[in-house]
Amino acid sequence: MESQIFSLTDRISYWKATENPLSADIGILKGARNTWLFDVGSSEEAAVFLQSLPGEKILVLSHFHPDHITNWSRIPHRELYQGANTYGYTKSGTIIDKEQTIEDGLSFHLVPLPSSHAKGSLLLEVEDYVFLGDATYCTRKKLSAVSMEQPFLPVYNAQLLKEEIEVLKKLRARYVLLSHDEAFCHERKEVVEELEQIYSRRRKDTPYIVVEEEG
Ligand SMILES: [Zn+2]
Repeated sequence: MESQIFSLTDRISYWKATENPLSADIGILKGARNTWLFDVGSSEEAAVFLQSLPGEKILVLSHFHPDHITNWSRIPHRELYQGANTYGYTKSGTIIDKEQTIEDGLSFHLVPLPSSHAKGSLLLEVEDYVFLGDATYCTRKKLSAVSMEQPFLPVYNAQLLKEEIEVLKKLRARYVLLSHDEAFCHERKEVVEELEQIYSRRRKDTPYIVVEEEG
């Protein structure tokens, strides 16, 4: 189980995502008083591991998809932070609807993040790292209501993408952490440039930008 954990700094590490079962990356951040968890995954293995961590826990959920939040009620915690859409699933804890910084040895910067992937996403910036969950990914959508045969296409909503880029540009951290991504840690500047590249392909006649593949 130890092989699932990767350290970024003395106080910031993560539990790596798995594909089968599908369970997202989990940030593990050691504050002065609490252990902060960014997402809690969905696998039994992740739940058992999180339960074994010492100290009081504060949970932060990136978005409402099950591979990120399923284990939340199995992890004893003193606080739970999430966006309004995720609260619709947990019915527990605190909704973060504007950015907020909480001091606990480290500065925990919580920021609502517009995202095509999931409504009501939330990011966590700590020191030089930004945990993003899946927020920079696209979604899948049938663009034609008329044709039944039309497949689900990978798309970004141009307006949401524009707002998301603006939020990401204002952060200070050097790196962003992208869940399910083999490399996980990326330069924030490069990810913003990639998103701007996608945004530049928007067209006037549609709110959606179709991309090649997921992510
Ligand atoms: Zn997701």
